[in-house]
Amino acid sequence: MTSSERPFLNRRLAEFGTTIFAEMSALAVQTGSINLGQGFPDTDGPEEVREAAVRALRDGRGNQYPPGPGVPELRAAVAAHQERRYGLLFDPDTEVLVTAGATEAIAASLLALLEPGDEVVALEPYYDSYAACIAMAGGTRVPVTLRPHEGSFRLDLDELRAAVTDRTRLLLINTPHNPTGTVLTREELTAVAELAVERDLLVVTDEVYEHLVFDEAEHIPLATFTGMRERTVTIGSAGKTFSFTGWKVGWITAPPALVSAVRSAKQFLTYVSSGPFQYAVAEALALPEAYFTAFREDMLAKRNLLSAGLADAGFEVFRTAGTYFITTDIRPLGESDGFAFCRALPRRAGVVAIPNAVFYDHREEGAPFVRFAFCKQTPVLEEAAARLKTLGA
Ligand code: PMP
Ligand code: GLN
Repeated sequence: MTSSERPFLNRRLAEFGTTIFAEMSALAVQTGSINLGQGFPDTDGPEEVREAAVRALRDGRGNQYPPGPGVPELRAAVAAHQERRYGLLFDPDTEVLVTAGATEAIAASLLALLEPGDEVVALEPYYDSYAACIAMAGGTRVPVTLRPHEGSFRLDLDELRAAVTDRTRLLLINTPHNPTGTVLTREELTAVAELAVERDLLVVTDEVYEHLVFDEAEHIPLATFTGMRERTVTIGSAGKTFSFTGWKVGWITAPPALVSAVRSAKQFLTYVSSGPFQYAVAEALALPEAYFTAFREDMLAKRNLLSAGLADAGFEVFRTAGTYFITTDIRPLGESDGFAFCRALPRRAGVVAIPNAVFYDHREEGAPFVRFAFCKQTPVLEEAAARLKTLGA
């Protein structure tokens, strides 16, 4: 939609159209295509977690406004999860805040922490809500582009350092990274942490795919690095880890001064949300390790299946070390415009994908890249691969 079709929309939001996810999911429904665009699983998460939500609803837990910071059971479960997995100690009462998904955590963090004119350094391609929330907060985004290097997208640490100016307030990091599937290494994270400490920056780190890391990759929260705990807001979400994206239960962990700042913004966005689901997610976070291992192994098999299918269909396939997305390069298929390619793909092959260009300020950098989600049932991925194979025919 152009700005002339939206005459009332303010200047801060004028550049943001309908999200690509809504556009592409609608196209999938319209054309009856397999939807490998928007990242949501086509099966629900664990039955016992679903039942926990039903129990909470029936028992009248969370049907009225839950407490502003989130129900105590969930805050305790988030703190226990951070301690068990990463050795990070957070006080559930002052250092955990439950949000309406990671989306609200991102919005509330940026609205609370930025002054108009502050610069935010973010990894490009970036998740689409980052740009819109920086704009709503009156900030300026300064993208640092991840570029293909030996089969995956890598961060250039010199470029990151050069992007920081006297106006930089905050680093907005995302690892595992959507859409590229990159997981920042210990060395890269060490450099990010050193930079943040040296320049006295706040860090907001979106780690919603923390449980989806494959092969030799390891997810290391930025808050575990020297000097980082006190300056970092870490964002998590139940949507990705437990396959209930519609429940919209997310959270932040941070020191009390940062949590109270973010809570100030959050209380005027939704105030609270997802009452009964918060109790269910508290139980989900306490699931035995076997759940998380099986989830990761299932997604790994799916990654392998779709990566092979895409390569077989003629795409250049980048290695996904984390998330449930694969980024491809369409140039080997004789294509160069990801937008045009994705808009035509439903009719050409009955599959929907996402043009990575929407995640770039430097649109031309992202033009040949297209993202496919593999959080779908195996027969669906097999059928998608078979359909995509007809592209080159
Ligand atoms: N951050 C990233 C990187 C994402 O991919 C998503 C989409 N799931 C979100 C945040 C938003 O998460 P939620 O659905 O919990 O709001
Ligand atoms: N995070 C999901 C993705 O990247 C989409 C979530 C949404 O539609 N806002 O596909």
